Parts: sequence; structure tokens; C-alpha cells
Amino acid sequence: MNKKNIKLCRKCTSYFYNNVWRKGDIKKALQTLFLDEKPKESLPNLYKQIKLGQMSFILNNDKGQFSVSFSEKLCDTCSRTKSGYFEGIFQVRNKKNSNFPALIEKTQEKILARKGVFVSKIIESKTGVDFYISSNKYLISLSKELWKQFGGEIKHSKKLFSRDHMTNKEVYRGTILLRLTDYGVGDILIIKKSLYLITSIQGDRVKTNELKTGKHRAFPRIKKEDYEEIIPKSEFFRVVVVTTKPILTVLHPKTYETIRVENQIDTKEQNILVAEYKGKLYVID
Ligand SMILES: [Zn+2]
Repeated sequence: MNKKNIKLCRKCTSYFYNNVWRKGDIKKALQTLFLDEKPKESLPNLYKQIKLGQMSFILNNDKGQFSVSFSEKLCDTCSRTKSGYFEGIFQVRNKKNSNFPALIEKTQEKILARKGVFVSKIIESKTGVDFYISSNKYLISLSKELWKQFGGEIKHSKKLFSRDHMTNKEVYRGTILLRLTDYGVGDILIIKKSLYLITSIQGDRVKTNELKTGKHRAFPRIKKEDYEEIIPKSEFFRVVVVTTKPILTVLHPKTYETIRVENQIDTKEQNILVAEYKGKLYVID
């Protein structure tokens, strides 16, 4: 009788079939087997056998009879993760940027979605997070993509990691540092006493909305010396609208005075989001 063994990874549910580890689960493994071997039994019937907890069964097809069994193992990726394998380090810096948590989340999301790439270690420090990544090639494209989306400054370097005892060659690990600017999308920059709400960042390019005039303005790059101050979005707050016509006035939550907002907009809301700068309030639309 022919024998077929399908290995299942006990950690990530991948299955090993015809010499390759494939993403999926036991159901997917059965589907693959079904398409390949065209057994005389139906696929739902096979599912039923698995559901009953049977980890091996006999199949009939044109080629004859063969027995299928499942066994559990660690797949290549999971066993390398376990051994701490990595080719490069992605260092993400500057927790001051209000989009830092979003960047960390995006980094993890992208690596998880990438087949065959994994993170073997994550180290968090006061200044940021280090991701130890299994593919240096992927690290390069990942950092480029994230820089495009979050901006900041990118630096490549390589560090001597160890010496290969067999070849006596030095082994290097690539390190990519992505340091975000102090400001992020949704924050306000004070440039020459005007308030610019950041609407998007693409690499170095910063798109803004000047709050007082409502005009859009794109900057090719904004360096530290180009702005006076940042008002992070976490400091915006809601205020109660007092009048909307002929002018928009709101109740200041600290002084309880009714004051006119600097940028007049049409609104039907009963409370609106504002930012305060030098005692004046600006609506964040
Ligand atoms: Zn696995």
C-alpha cells in the first residue's frame, strides 16, 4: 500500500506536502491532497474523518489504495524563529512622534503578511523599538515603504555580528534606522506664527492646511529649524459651540468665556475640536 504523510506545523498550522512547507491548515492540506490524488471519496467525507479525530485513513483512487497519516512538527520558519535567526535589525525611533504607535503596528502587520519572513526578537527601549528580521532583503523594502508613509530620516549601516569559525569570514548584519520627525500627521506646526495642520506625509514631503486661511500648502521638507513649535494632536480638545451665526463662538473650557474662534467655519455641531495657541482657539475641521 502507498503511504502519504502530511506534516502539520504545531505552531503556525502550515503543512508539509510534496517536499514543501505551505501556508494553510489541515483543511487546506486535505484540499491539496484531494486535488492531487482524486480519491473516490468526497472532500466533505474526508473532513468528517478528520473531525472525528482520525489522524490517519485509507484512500482509494485509480492508482489503488493508500494510507494517509498526519503528524506534527515545527515548520522551517517556526524552527528558525525559535533559534532566533535574523539577518537584519530594523530600528524604529522617536516615541515623541504621535504616529509612533501606528508605525509599530504597521511594521508588525506588514511582516506578518509577508510569506516566509518573520521577527525573531523585538526589543523595546526608552527611545524606540528594534525588530530582528529574518530577511535583510525584505528589511530594505519594508523600511522604504514605511519611510514613504511616515516620513523621517533613514540610515543604513552594517554591524559586525560574529566570525564564521569554518570560513573565518566576518559575518555582518544589516541595520536600518528609521527616525521619525518629532511631528506627525494630524499634528500642528507653528511656522512663522501661523498654524499648519499636517494632512499627509510622504517621505520628506509634508502636506498641510493653514488653519486661519484654510489654504493647502505642501513643503518639500520641514526641518527642526523651520518651525517654532508643535501642537500634538493629543493636546486638541473639544469645546461647546455657543453661536454659529453671524460668527462662530465657543465656550472656553478653562476661562468659561465665550470667545470667537480664529478660523470661522460653517458647522452644525454642538461641540467642536480645537487647538489652542497663545490664548486663541483654532477649529480642527
Ligand atoms: Zn510553523
